[in-house]
Amino acid sequence: MNSITIQDVILHPVGLPLVEKLKTSYGAEPFKSAVIVELITSDGRTGWGECPEFLIPAVVGKTINSPTELPKLMGASRGHPMAKHALESAVWDVWAQANNLTLAEAFAAHLLDGHTPKGHALVGVSIGIQDSIPATLDIITKRLNEGYGRIKLKIAPGWDLELAREVRKVYPDIALMLDANSAYRLSDADHLKQMDDLNLLMIEQPLGFYDIYEHSKLQPMLTTPVCLDESIHSAGDAQMAIELGACKIINLKPARVAGYTESLAIYKICVDTQTPLWVGGLLETGVGRAANLAFASLPGVTLPCDISATDRYYLQDLTEPPFALSAGSVINTPTGIGLGVEVQRDRIASGEAYWRDHYPYKV
Ligand code: MG
Repeated sequence: MNSITIQDVILHPVGLPLVEKLKTSYGAEPFKSAVIVELITSDGRTGWGECPEFLIPAVVGKTINSPTELPKLMGASRGHPMAKHALESAVWDVWAQANNLTLAEAFAAHLLDGHTPKGHALVGVSIGIQDSIPATLDIITKRLNEGYGRIKLKIAPGWDLELAREVRKVYPDIALMLDANSAYRLSDADHLKQMDDLNLLMIEQPLGFYDIYEHSKLQPMLTTPVCLDESIHSAGDAQMAIELGACKIINLKPARVAGYTESLAIYKICVDTQTPLWVGGLLETGVGRAANLAFASLPGVTLPCDISATDRYYLQDLTEPPFALSAGSVINTPTGIGLGVEVQRDRIASGEAYWRDHYPYKV
């Protein structure tokens, strides 16, 4: 068989009038809409594909009393959590503005009394796999000096126990945790067990990225709390993981669970079961980070979150003002209504131009 090399992918959103409308239990589309995918190979061939589903028509023209109505409106489309999260987030922002609330207050308005936002989120910093242990120690020292009160180290087989032991020799008391991003198997349990005498805050996602069952086998073998991140896609997953004893801590990524409505459901489960909860990050720009910070300022988010200050991520973010680290390893949440930060349209425009100039990028 001949191989092909993909050179470019071009997206064409299209609309086509229908000869006959197809009505179903969730309504009828006024015209056919699709994203046509044009794929070009290095030898000049063109391939075509089609994405048949859209979320935006499900919400345009709709009057919304609460952003928590969004998942149902978009429910005819299964999956696509990050696309749904993006749309729902924008609805939360305008709904909060329309009700003269900060985004954190808007979230709290959907909880029982007693969940008043704290005005800040407790945060930590995540450090990737480095070339050497001394290089890692240098970065840890730098981050501690900047004021971060919790250090998370990414680990992988061959870059784990020795690293953590050396860090503990230099910093016996810092709040330290490890994130495995699914790099281990249940058969590694004896190896992972050796982390138990390192006084770790937690080990995050040691096993498979959809797994809950094998984590329920692993957690009882460890005294170190297991935190699930990648495995939690919904409130149902969180409930199951907690009931099966698969984890003692949950890392919530609002984008991974399809938005803040599902995030609030997970929050309630963690409060009810007294499961420590924190908010993870996906290197969001100021738009996504402001909303995650607002959520992380709710009092049921009890552990430091992976939301660092702006200068950790971008030379120039899309929003103003930048987020700065304050005393006590916290970032204050904006006090303005809605997201509470100003999106800079000129930077959106330059970001779009950058995208055009650099897409498709190679990974
Ligand atoms: Mg993680």
